[in-house]
Formats: sequence, structure tokens, C-alpha cells
Amino acid sequence: MFLSGKRALVTGSTSGIGLAIARAIRAEGADVVLSGFGEAGAIAALCEELGATHVSADLTLTEGVERMMAESGRVDVLVNNAGMQHVAPVEDFPVPKWDAIIALNLSSAFHTARLAVPQMKSAGWGRIINIASAHSLTASPFKAAYVAAKHGIAGLTKVLALELAEHNITANCISPGYVWTPLVENQIPDTMAARGLTREQVMRDVFLAKQPTKKFVAVEEVAAMAVFLCGDAAQNINGANMSIDGGWTAE
Ligand code: NAD
Repeated sequence: MFLSGKRALVTGSTSGIGLAIARAIRAEGADVVLSGFGEAGAIAALCEELGATHVSADLTLTEGVERMMAESGRVDVLVNNAGMQHVAPVEDFPVPKWDAIIALNLSSAFHTARLAVPQMKSAGWGRIINIASAHSLTASPFKAAYVAAKHGIAGLTKVLALELAEHNITANCISPGYVWTPLVENQIPDTMAARGLTREQVMRDVFLAKQPTKKFVAVEEVAAMAVFLCGDAAQNINGANMSIDGGWTAE
């Protein structure tokens, strides 16, 4: 329970990777603030399970991020996880999708960080964990906005690491390969259309083709890395990009 007395905000924690991180951080004793969309009853059940509070805000909007940060109170562990994807050839990529993905997957992490850092500095301790992606290190076709945003968040992480190092605050990213969550499942129809493939071909020839293990990463593996990055053993891991991709980016 090494995070007892700490307070953690995990964005996009009503689903997938963010929910697994919220559960794992809570299991180490932190008070957790959940964020993200979902059905009211399901969110209430999660709050009950985790003894957590929930802030509902659209993080594609700067005002949404600002309201979430105001309602969250003190944040010792900031996990920028909320994200979305859209798959389309560049010439057909909808401009509103580009804007929304850059806003959510990249700009929201800048806004949460700028708002959390003053209080982390005065507390003399903090952890910023950005959930990037294998796509922060490498590219795939038809994912212009996502790949640009994820490369961007890897760069932002390095800047935060350099600026905050002397304040006992670390900033790192975790870069999973394909993790079986709604975000991946929802890409199947558009990927089938963009590449002219069947569902089975998308799973085998697009998703798992990238991962030498031929297996999806589990959300719990990403959560375990986030918990490790919060600990004293990770105090000198700063500005790193921790790949959990079965070897994808080793190529
Ligand atoms: P998910 O779709 O299961 O969860 C996304 C979360 O973000 C949900 O809680 C959702 O409500 C929230 N969200 C979406 N739009 C939002 C908005 N406008 N404002 C506030 N919250 C919003 O996705 P996931 O697979 O768990 O992805 C989480 C993160 O992990 C993302 O940043 C994603 O890019 C990254 N990632 C996922 C994979 C993967 O294979 N699943 C791989 C690498 C990186």
C-alpha cells in the first residue's frame, strides 16, 4: 500500500487500460479520481468498487480539462490515458477527427500537466505517466492523427521530465502495442474498409502481424508498469518511453 495518502487522477478510466490502471493504483492505497464517459449506473458501480470520485468532462475541450482539474483537487499521480483513434487514408481523413484526436490524445496531457505541476512542485513529489503507444515510436498507414499525437506526447513527456527532474517529479510514457480493449475492437470496421480485408484478416494480418508474440497485451500488464513507475525504485526513470509491445518496436 505504498501509495496510501496519495491522490491519483486517471483520465479515460471508465474503460480499458485506464480502468485497469485505476484499479491497480487503488490497490496500492491511493485515492482515485476517475474520468471518462459511460453509462451512469456503470460509473456509479465503479466509484463504489474503488471508493473513487468521478469527473465527467469532454477532454477534447480545454475548458473540459480545466473543469476536470478544478474538480479533481490535489493530484499527486497524473495518468494521461484518455484517447481515441480514427482509421482513414490521409486524403479522406475527416478534419474534425484530426482536431479531436490531437486535442484528446496530445493537448489534454499538456493542459493537465500545466495545471497539476504547481501543486506537485509545492508537495515536492509527483508522478506523470502518459499512456502513449507503439505508435509513439513507429507508424502505421491510415492513422495520421493518432501517430502524430502519440509521437507528440512522447516529446512532451521528455520536456516535462527535464523541467521537473529537480522537484522529485518524474514524467514517463508507457507505449503498449495492441491491447484488447474497445478502442481496438472499434477499429475493425474502418480497417476492413480502408484495407479491403475481412475481420479475421484484420486481426491476423494487421493487429497481431505487428506483434512478434502474436498475442494481445493485457490491460493488467500496462497497469503493473504504471504502478512500478510510481514507486521509489523508479525514481530515476525519467523521460523514458517504456514499450510493452511484445517486441513490435524492436524491429
Ligand atoms: P478505451 O476506448 O477502452 O478507453 C478510452 C477512455 O477514454 C474511456 O474511458 C473513454 O470514456 C475516454 N474518453 C474517450 N473520449 C473522451 C473524451 N473526449 N473526453 C474524456 N474522456 C474520453 O481505450 P483504451 O484502449 O483503454 O485506450 C486508452 C489509452 O491507451 C489511449 O490513449 C490509447 O491511445 C492507448 N493505447 C491503447 C492501445 C490498445 O491497443 N488498446 C495501444 C496503445 C495505446
